[in-house]
Amino acid sequence: MSKVIRNIKGTFDILPVNVSSDAAHEDTIWTWQYIEKNIRDILELSGFKEIRTPLLEPTELIARGIGQLTDIVSKEMYAFEREGTHYVLRPEVTAPVMRAYLQHHLAQQGGIQKLYYFGPCFRAERPQKGRYRQFHQFGCELIGTDSVYADVEVIATMMHVYSAFNLPNMKLLINSLGDETSRPRYKEALRSYFSKYESDLTETSKTRLEKNPLRILDTKVEKERVLLESAPKLIDYIDSDSKDQYVQLKGLLTEMGIEYVEDPFLVRGLDYYTKTAFELVSDDLGAQSALGGGGRYDLLSMEVGSKSPVPAVGFASGIERLLIALREAGTEIPEESPMDVFVVGLGEEAQKWSMLMAQKMREAKVKASYDLRGKSMKVQMKEAHRLRSQFVVIVGEDELTSKKAIVKNMETGDQQEVHFNDLVDYFTPSVAAP
Ligand code: AMP
Repeated sequence: MSKVIRNIKGTFDILPVNVSSDAAHEDTIWTWQYIEKNIRDILELSGFKEIRTPLLEPTELIARGIGQLTDIVSKEMYAFEREGTHYVLRPEVTAPVMRAYLQHHLAQQGGIQKLYYFGPCFRAERPQKGRYRQFHQFGCELIGTDSVYADVEVIATMMHVYSAFNLPNMKLLINSLGDETSRPRYKEALRSYFSKYESDLTETSKTRLEKNPLRILDTKVEKERVLLESAPKLIDYIDSDSKDQYVQLKGLLTEMGIEYVEDPFLVRGLDYYTKTAFELVSDDLGAQSALGGGGRYDLLSMEVGSKSPVPAVGFASGIERLLIALREAGTEIPEESPMDVFVVGLGEEAQKWSMLMAQKMREAKVKASYDLRGKSMKVQMKEAHRLRSQFVVIVGEDELTSKKAIVKNMETGDQQEVHFNDLVDYFTPSVAAP
């Protein structure tokens, strides 16, 4: 075979160096690690604990959890069957977390569960900027209470993450979806409203009108957006309990200093939401404007087999979209810490010595490397530069005899001789000290 096999379209490699011409994927693994660490620290500050669930889940969990009529389940699942078992590569993590909560009886631990996750998700979408087939989500799930304070806790935690990155031009959209009786009522109202204009609708919307009229609310077609202006609003169809909670939520968000915009057409693409729904959007993202979103999902547990409802609320965010927004905003990510020491060994004996010295330094927590290939001084110095090493230690035959190495500070160019016995101490505890 003469052609190198390439990755699947809509998926990508995250490399230690930036070689990509694709702006969406030019972030190195260092940037990912930096972002993930910062997010993790913030989520833990609010008392959320990490949960890791498998990438493979039973198809039934996702189909029943998210809803048969959603885009995700009807056309975006990577699903397959093997020896009678139906598998799906998870398209999101909320249903898997609820499965784990129920399966392991986490309710019996007492109190509420505050869980967070990181990891890849898979959706067979048409790839474009901000939309991939394998993408990475982080999110929180707060399980075990219907208190509106839990909704605020989840929204505030999500906002804490994004404000820590100082992203401009963000907008938090909120809405209430009401209880399980509200949505069918609202769907009917939408259906009868749009039926009057059926001839003006696109083919996609005509199908949606029949199957799931809520999806028409996502339309980007100008003519349909005009129709939307006079369409029935969900808030007028929700139960009074949900309405009261929505008012309370808005009051608490204001107390927390969290600005929001009410969006009467925000319904979100997953069927399991009830009551609070929210989305954080950014003007800097283009067509795929949602950084993250979530809501209350008090009915999901019943869908996936619980005998009684387990109230819960959560959010999910895309890491790729956060990275795009950071780049658009020109946010500087601190540079990766460089190599502390590169040991340059000239000749076979010196190479062996370098191997042992690098090992001793690593044991003393000094980040050290040395030449594995037996190259010339020039090539080894080039390698030290490439690794942005702060110091080089140079040893040849003469140094092996005198037991004194040449230590060069790569920033200042200063050089000095240091006895082999003092070398490790020279670079510890702080490499910058000498
Ligand atoms: P959702 O589960 O659809 O509400 O998605 C939650 C978040 O995940 C979105 O706001 C996006 O940031 C991200 N996301 C969803 N689908 C994709 C995708 N195909 N590619 C990249 N990010 C995505």
